[in-house]
Amino acid sequence: MLFRADPWLHVIAGCMSSGKTDELLRLLRRAEIAKRRILLVRPDVDDRTPAEYAESRSKARYPSTPVPKGEPVAILSLARERDVDLVGIEEAQFFDGNLPRVVETLRQSGRHVIASGLNTDFAGRPFGSMPELLALADEITMLSAICVVCGETATRTQRLVGGRPAAIDDPLIVIGGFEAPTVETYEARCLRHHEVAPARSARGVVADD
Ligand SMILES: [Zn+2]
Repeated sequence: MLFRADPWLHVIAGCMSSGKTDELLRLLRRAEIAKRRILLVRPDVDDRTPAEYAESRSKARYPSTPVPKGEPVAILSLARERDVDLVGIEEAQFFDGNLPRVVETLRQSGRHVIASGLNTDFAGRPFGSMPELLALADEITMLSAICVVCGETATRTQRLVGGRPAAIDDPLIVIGGFEAPTVETYEARCLRHHEVAPARSARGVVADD
């Protein structure tokens, strides 16, 4: 079968730079060939690309609709309004805890859902609703990347603040950004090279250490 049209939840998980968006967009293009009506949504927290497009590392693009991360239920009305057969969800880890219920409702209404996201956060902890989505999935694609330190298989997302490993108690999403020259970056690392700094609160260090 070229494209599965049945109710189906496919979860694409992996660390930073593992090609999740490329895989998601590949599946959407395939569904398009099968004449499926598609809705792609993303939480409104990601400002890497203009909100109206999903863009992969290989520069593939696909029209995407931003949805408030605290209101995944809005995906249901969008899917109904546009009468779609397939709902793609990017950066699923950023939506609030109602996302699994929304996804179940989409699947019960006969739709195909493909959700992609980070399975663990920078500290290696299960991220947002991803563990629940993975448990509910009919199909899972677990992707890995290449460790930037040693070149082995990477399954973790390293967060760096000012070039140094982020602390365990640093907030997951920095609102408003850091002032120069402190830059926050993410990269793929293997388990051996994945580093999390001790809690700042325990060290009595101020936030702009
Ligand atoms: Zn490594």
